[in-house]
Amino acid sequence: MWVTFAPPPRVQSPGRYTRAVSDPRTVLTGMGTTELEAVAADLGQPAFRGRQIARWVYAKAAQGFDAMRDLPTDLRARLDEGYRVSPLTLADRRTSKDGVDKLLVHNGDGQVYECVLLPYEDRVSCCISSQVGCPMGCTFCATGLGGFDRNLTTGEIVSQYLLLQSISPRRVSHVVFMGMGEPLLNFDAVVRSLRLLHEEVGLSYRHLTVSTVGLVPQILALAEERLPIHLALSLHSPIDEVRSRLMPVNHKWPVAEVVRAMRVYQQKTGRKVTFEVLLIDEVNDTPDQAELLAKLLKGLPCVVNLIPFNWVDTGAGFRRPTRERVNAFRRVLEAKGTNVTERVERGHDIAAACGQLAGQHTGRFANRRRLTELPVT
Ligand code: SAH
Ligand code: SF4
Repeated sequence: MWVTFAPPPRVQSPGRYTRAVSDPRTVLTGMGTTELEAVAADLGQPAFRGRQIARWVYAKAAQGFDAMRDLPTDLRARLDEGYRVSPLTLADRRTSKDGVDKLLVHNGDGQVYECVLLPYEDRVSCCISSQVGCPMGCTFCATGLGGFDRNLTTGEIVSQYLLLQSISPRRVSHVVFMGMGEPLLNFDAVVRSLRLLHEEVGLSYRHLTVSTVGLVPQILALAEERLPIHLALSLHSPIDEVRSRLMPVNHKWPVAEVVRAMRVYQQKTGRKVTFEVLLIDEVNDTPDQAELLAKLLKGLPCVVNLIPFNWVDTGAGFRRPTRERVNAFRRVLEAKGTNVTERVERGHDIAAACGQLAGQHTGRFANRRRLTELPVT
């Protein structure tokens, strides 16, 4: 059941605003320690006050100044006048039967986006969004179906992690950029967010995963950043004809080119890469495609992650394959020596699984722009 907190205001033209319209205070999340020291200096405070604020914001996931108990009361009041910790307002929270929490957030501009808390026995992970909607138009994805509104800021990206950490009784140690949006289309903000999650929050780069639809120039640019994060490519088929049907981006960067870019990424970073394969019944789950996939990835240190299609009514008639078909696909890969894992999908009853995040609020989809209106580069 949805628990409603603060509904986003209705605005006449969604998408026109790129920042909070209702709160003019400067947002602190997104600033590093040095910038927070400068904020402290502006208030006539010594640098260590900035470092204290950084610790509260990032290491302790404080959502407001009241929680910052080692700051003098009058400083907290002055901070509250000109600043706020997070740009996010929680619109809704939904908890699934298997313990997954999905939060719907906005920043006052009427556009909602989603993030998900995923507790496992051995760790707590979270899945966050990089854009409001997505312009890539993949034909199996609820986010893609809803169109695109805008990129999220660094503060909006990192605040999703911090908000989820603030409701989690356990440390959230892993972050995957597999929520709404294509992270590499929002390159600078995503790279800055990765750095903040590592440097300020203290997460290991190895526990940060970026999943991309396959934008070749950005994959190569990410390799140059030399961040030892984990990169996953949504490949979905080794055959151009099939991949193009599922992902329009394949017309621009076909299979051979994007796999070549992943090889470069792997060599430059020394990190094993992941290839995600979303399996759709009788579309891309055939044994011949498994064979071609194994051949394509030969010699590349990688893992293939199988994701059975989570049902979304895309109008394309896609179905989830049976367990037998998934197992058969897996067996072909394993017989060829490919490392294979299968994603444990959770949160189905609250539509929190991969590809199901649509930013739906009070029963309606956001009115976002479509791929045709945006350049894919
Ligand atoms: N834009 C990025 C990251 C967000 S999507 C990307 O496409 O990689 C995260 C993952 O969910 C991708 O692997 C995507 O292919 C997968 N996905 C999208 N729709 C899905 C669906 N209906 N069922 C299962 N996985 C889906
Ligand atoms: Fe965008 Fe990823 Fe969905 Fe494709 S699968 S539409 S790239 S969010």
